[in-house]
Amino acid sequence: IASTINRAARPTVSQLAHQATSSLPRNFSTTTPNNMKVLAVLYEGGKHAVEESRLLGTVQNELGLRKWLEDQGHEYIVTSDKEGANSELDKHIVDAEIVISTPFHPAYITRERIEKAKNLKACITAGVGSDHVDLTAANEKGLLVAEVTGSNVVSVAEHVVMTILNLVRNFVPAHEQVMAGNWNVAEIARGAFDLENKVVGTVAIGRIGERVLRRLKAFDCKELLYFDYQALDPQKEKEIGCRRINDLKEMLSQCDVVTINAPLSESTKGMFNKELISHMKKGAFLVNTARGAICNENDIADALASGQLSGYGGDVWYPQPAPKDHPWRKMRNPLGGGNAMTPHYSGTTLDAQIRYAQGTKDIIERYIKGEEQNPPDVIVEKGDYATKAYGQREKKKQ
Ligand code: NAD
Repeated sequence: IASTINRAARPTVSQLAHQATSSLPRNFSTTTPNNMKVLAVLYEGGKHAVEESRLLGTVQNELGLRKWLEDQGHEYIVTSDKEGANSELDKHIVDAEIVISTPFHPAYITRERIEKAKNLKACITAGVGSDHVDLTAANEKGLLVAEVTGSNVVSVAEHVVMTILNLVRNFVPAHEQVMAGNWNVAEIARGAFDLENKVVGTVAIGRIGERVLRRLKAFDCKELLYFDYQALDPQKEKEIGCRRINDLKEMLSQCDVVTINAPLSESTKGMFNKELISHMKKGAFLVNTARGAICNENDIADALASGQLSGYGGDVWYPQPAPKDHPWRKMRNPLGGGNAMTPHYSGTTLDAQIRYAQGTKDIIERYIKGEEQNPPDVIVEKGDYATKAYGQREKKKQ
């Protein structure tokens, strides 16, 4: 109640922006010659976005950017329609200079779309993870691809820890049981464990992977392991009490719980397939909040059904929105549990939305002023990768 009263008394910037623009028809624009078209592909907020103006990442609340962009004479198109050749995305990308999208409702900026986007200069991710852009094609065209680095890494790390506990403690079937009016302790307890004294490993120890291990430290796990081609600073390793293992299969064979925190790239696409999963301990738990396409969807469902995995959870799918018949929606382990899937929302908490909306504005502002971007935000620029996160590769000769 207190926060409602406070917000009512002193509207946020986003509320002001929303109030100023909510009476305008969708796709309203005030184009002036020589000004740019900015196209944002965001998720539908429906009545939720009308009732909750902090849902900035929605079509309704437009990242709070409309007034700011239009006051400068730019055209701002916002849509959720991104599939098929006649989509609003395809219609507007042909002359857009900037395309904004979020990983929660990704506009797949394919080579074909990049080729027909004759004015396109920048693709901005309102969030973290720019794999929805064909980065090779973006490099060939010399596009800027930037994201709001760090904006939701705590949000995701918390979700990872929640999902690990959810699976290890067999929470979902226990909750479903009471909601169904039943009471059977043994049915749940036969699949429930403590996290204490278990081995947990992360595939990648970037911003999220590191934060996951830091949070897990409090659970007195037997060991915290990581696999990454970039080593963590030794001081940080010591603080966290984690150990690097250079061979992925070797790490997987030791883990009771594995969490995936690597970007989707050529090196991680389809990485968790039947073969790799066979190197995991029988009955281990796998959590993936990185990207759905890092895991082979049928091999994961089969591994859960056979008991090779006791549980799989996370919030990322391919494609998104996930089709109604995606195998991860209904898959279960032999005890009828082990599924902790949610829609893609870990990185779009209300706290995270404020940060990624502000960060998106900052990237556009620097672009308009011709200023250098904040280096950690840049994924590709001037025909080359600016980050080491999307796979190991030699830096191109300038
Ligand atoms: P980061 O750039 O800080 O770290 C990425 C790490 O992955 C780096 O240390 C890199 O060396 C490592 N890596 C890359 N390829 C690897 C491989 N093949 N094997 C092992 N390690 C590898 O990124 P971050 O902020 O930690 O985010 C990681 C990913 O998480 C993002 O790219 C995105 O896909 C995903 N993410 C998901 C959500 C969500 O809402 N579910 C939100 C934010 C980010």
